[in-house]
Amino acid sequence: MNILVINCGSSSLKYQLIDTDTEKVLAKGLCERIGLDDAILNHTPSGKDKVVIHCDMPDHNVAIKEVVNILTDAENGVIASLEEIGAIGHRVVHGGEKFNSSVPINDAVMAALEECIPLAPLHNPPNIIGIKACQAAMPGVPQVGVFDTAFHQTMPKENYMYAIPYEYYEKYGVRKYGFHGTSHKYVSQRAAALLGKPAEETKIITVHIGNGGSIAAVCGGKCVDTTMGFTPLDGLVMGTRSGIIDAAVPLFIMEQENLTSKQMSDILNKKSGLQGITGISSDMRDVSAAAAEGNERAILAKKMFAARVKAYIGQYMATMNGADAIVFTAGIGENDKATRAACCENLDFLGIKIDAEKNDKRGDEFVISTDDSKVKVFVIATNEELAIARDTKDIVSK
Ligand code: AMP
Repeated sequence: MNILVINCGSSSLKYQLIDTDTEKVLAKGLCERIGLDDAILNHTPSGKDKVVIHCDMPDHNVAIKEVVNILTDAENGVIASLEEIGAIGHRVVHGGEKFNSSVPINDAVMAALEECIPLAPLHNPPNIIGIKACQAAMPGVPQVGVFDTAFHQTMPKENYMYAIPYEYYEKYGVRKYGFHGTSHKYVSQRAAALLGKPAEETKIITVHIGNGGSIAAVCGGKCVDTTMGFTPLDGLVMGTRSGIIDAAVPLFIMEQENLTSKQMSDILNKKSGLQGITGISSDMRDVSAAAAEGNERAILAKKMFAARVKAYIGQYMATMNGADAIVFTAGIGENDKATRAACCENLDFLGIKIDAEKNDKRGDEFVISTDDSKVKVFVIATNEELAIARDTKDIVSK
């Protein structure tokens, strides 16, 4: 079955058409600058060169039509007609407490998604627009919602509540939700398979470090804690996000600098993290290059980044009474051997030992721990689109 995987942002739309029988990507692409001047569609059919099309895309409805046109195009298309799309899987950022797994989209689900908008005011509206645009362009094709938050819904209450007046949880749903759930689920399941054990018998710590980053403690196949919180701002030092800080700090800065909550939010979400500490870049490659030239703040940023990851690894080993495996994934986790080594440095007392030679490798799935390391450490390339396609197929096949 061919599944169209859609990830809609406010001015972008990413897609992949995946044949779930072979798990091959038939085509993938990205519409950028939707609703702005100079919108472009980048489309890459499998085995062929990328095609760049400049076309007017005033809204997501038109963008979806352009995607359908190019997928069925005689020259650059990969299918003859829409009939060959069996279902559509949507990445949806926030499912609140309403969704603990992927669901077929219907009117009740759409209403529930609308209700989750206050929890993700920037992300859920474009996700909803994308679903409606697909309903209009491909009526009758089943659609499935796959939530970033769903995998984390198994956290016990003591791990997802904040110690603030209980009424804010009751009134506004203020609690930890966690994000990157599709990635944590995918790589933890792959790790269990590589360990040769059923997921139910494993304790795995998944370290998703890219531009955004989060860690999850996955016990018996279920998430029991994660580093992102009510929003994706919490936890690790990220490209431009601060991660965890004393909640009094933004209040203090707002008073000192006379800032609004929107201005403070921008500072914490867009001007902090690697970017904020170094003043150079949010990109780990640039930060590493500056550190190699002796830039003190870049060296500091790299140390802070690794120290935070390491502290959470320790925390989650305490949460789960040990771990069978740690998985590194996403841009930094999959590619940056020095950061991986720094995150696991001096953790031999927990049974975590990195083999420098094994760590000096590239590939989709490999072990980087020593043979006598009690905890196996893996690098596993994440594949959120494939995970969405698999969930979508499972649901529509039922
Ligand atoms: P993602 O958000 O998963 O695409 O990851 C983006 C992050 O991965 C950026 O900070 C990049 O600098 C980092 N990254 C990608 N490739 C490499 C690499 N070869 N070495 C170090 N960092 C990398």
